Amino acid sequence: MTQRGLFDRYRVPPGALVDLSTYPTDDTAPFVDKTEAQQKLADDVDTLADLQSKLYAQNVHAVLVVLQGIDASGKDGTVKHVMSGVNPAGCDVKSFKVPSAEELDHDYLWRYVRALPERGKIGIFNRSYYEEVLVVRVHPELLGREHIQSAKKREKLWPTRFRDINNFEQYLTENGIEVLKFFLHLSKDEQKKRFLSRLDSADKNWKFSESDVGERAYWDDYQRAFVDMLSHTSSEYAPWYIVPADRKWFTRVVVADIIARKMESMKLGYPELDLTGREALERARLLLENEP
Ligand code: AMP
Ligand code: MG
Repeated sequence: MTQRGLFDRYRVPPGALVDLSTYPTDDTAPFVDKTEAQQKLADDVDTLADLQSKLYAQNVHAVLVVLQGIDASGKDGTVKHVMSGVNPAGCDVKSFKVPSAEELDHDYLWRYVRALPERGKIGIFNRSYYEEVLVVRVHPELLGREHIQSAKKREKLWPTRFRDINNFEQYLTENGIEVLKFFLHLSKDEQKKRFLSRLDSADKNWKFSESDVGERAYWDDYQRAFVDMLSHTSSEYAPWYIVPADRKWFTRVVVADIIARKMESMKLGYPELDLTGREALERARLLLENEP
């Protein structure tokens, strides 16, 4: 269990029927503005760096951070800022795009399993296996490519996938991989502003994709898919947090705080040497000190 934290209000209780209209997109409490929150983010980034190096030294646990959210909700920026202090060798970021032909030839969790972090590392999934109950649900024609044809199977598909995913996350947790999941909750107005700024500023043009604007037409379908996902896959062992995403600086503060508090609760520390190890150190010291 994660210890009580500043942003527990965003945690989805297991089994709760989520109503997204009750979760704010523009909350910033307890901060009034970005300047006020800067120190807090800097402190958490330092804490994460320190805990990650202990995680690595201990080599027992891994942490999997899952980021989901509609286009322009700030996933990439969150990864960049929250992980800015962490040793790159201890952190793997994986962004999932439209699956390849090879990936589609495997079971739907295959490509995500291959990308899981090894012990000692923080793995970040920028989009994740949850796309399999989001974009694939909004565009069921994608399922044809996943070779699931029978109508009967399709009817039970989403409840079955929720169950699979819960089981998968339980398996991960029991094998030392802690799972933290963040849904970046963006308002439709703010998405429009961000798309427009991608069109307006030359240094953001590269982020613009025509398909993003096309996907906006499916806004309500995505919101329904998010609600169903959040209502069925938040568990004690792998909780969802619905993070306000209209203010980028606040999203980052919340995500950094929740990961840092979770890692603090994992009792990470540098391994202590046993007697044999300490004796080896002493021998090495003597050798070095007595070098001719
Ligand atoms: P981006 O994150 O902006 O680089 O876009 C990645 C694109 O890949 C998004 O449009 C996602 O919806 C799409 N995508 C990710 N995973 C899947 C999946 N499993 N099936 C189909 N499309 C996906
Ligand atoms: Mg995009």
